[in-house]
Amino acid sequence: MKSLETYTKAKLDAIDAKAQRRFLFDHSRSADMSATRESWGQIVSFTDNDYLGLSTDPAVIDAAQKAMAQYGAGAGASRLVTGNHPLHRDLEKKIAQMKGTEDAVVFGSGYMANTGVIPTFLGKQDVIFADELIHTSLHAGIKLSGATVYFFNHNDCDHLKELLRQYRHQYPHAMIVVDGVYSMDGDMAPLKKQGQIAKVFDCWLYSDDAHGFGVVGGGKGSTVAQEAEGLIPFQMGTLSKAIGSYGGYLAASHAVCELLRSRSRSLIYTTALPPAVIAASIRSLEIIETDKERIQRPVILAQRFADALNLPNPTTPIVPLIMGSEEDTLAASKSLADQGYLAWAFRPPTVAPGTSRLRFCFSATHSDAQVDGLIQACLSIGLLA
Ligand SMILES: *Cc1c(COP(=O)(O)O)cnc(C)c1O
Repeated sequence: MKSLETYTKAKLDAIDAKAQRRFLFDHSRSADMSATRESWGQIVSFTDNDYLGLSTDPAVIDAAQKAMAQYGAGAGASRLVTGNHPLHRDLEKKIAQMKGTEDAVVFGSGYMANTGVIPTFLGKQDVIFADELIHTSLHAGIKLSGATVYFFNHNDCDHLKELLRQYRHQYPHAMIVVDGVYSMDGDMAPLKKQGQIAKVFDCWLYSDDAHGFGVVGGGKGSTVAQEAEGLIPFQMGTLSKAIGSYGGYLAASHAVCELLRSRSRSLIYTTALPPAVIAASIRSLEIIETDKERIQRPVILAQRFADALNLPNPTTPIVPLIMGSEEDTLAASKSLADQGYLAWAFRPPTVAPGTSRLRFCFSATHSDAQVDGLIQACLSIGLLA
């Protein structure tokens, strides 16, 4: 179709002109955070969300292999039909226990959890107050709900209260939507304060803890790290980051989870996760519950790196270095890659215009020598805050 090709090529040209074109490179990961990357060769990755190295942990792989050998490669159907392997119940029980909730529901991914949960509870007559930096998948869930949305300035509780005073009373139901840990900045939401505000204004607080579960709050996530237990009726997260596997979840009351099982479209109309993936998640959570040293290491390494580069002291394993322009960020990322270190260049629309940045993620399986090598490489190209 000529019109389609013309339209698409013009779109791509516009993306190229803004230095926002994205490419997929083959990337084979190994257990120690090193990898072989197409056109670059051997490289140490500071870009993975595998904060605890559990995706390559022998015990996790073993659990997955055993489950696959025993139960097969795929789930066969939706969880609502014949895909609800008993391992699902074990995983949901474990998540609920770690999150301190009555129940939990496992979804195919974090993205699917966010797009499936929000529209189950809010419709176009309702209202959402969301932090301006929430994850894209939350925007998708909000859009699907049809609710009116007001954005408050990042982590700004006064601005949130101002919006609530002005608009909350016009709608029957209201939700406050935040990330527990912000993936592009590495800071946490003030969940306790937000939870107290939510109570006063009769709003349901929804926190996406994709980057907190497994690494902060003794592994239990940002709710515990921020002392907000009992204040967050919707605790969402993913099994694909620190947990090293795949899938998303919502930890909540039994009634909330039951409504999802009957009404959430991204749970009902999609095939269940493969049993091997569920088994891997269960094994990972068992490791997180017992191996305290492993949980603490990513943040310790992030702090060591930030200290060496005069950056603010991080409380999560994510350290951003904001450079501004797309071109400067890409050039810095390329210079580090030439020295064998992978640090991703994040550009608009993933981040706000003018705030392109390198983002460094630290993992428990990085060696001290790898982190020191990264520090030297950063200093050698003048990356000092
Ligand atoms: C990665 C991420 C998601 C999506 O989770 P997946 O399981 O990868 O689909 C959702 N929210 C946040 C904040 C994330 O960082």
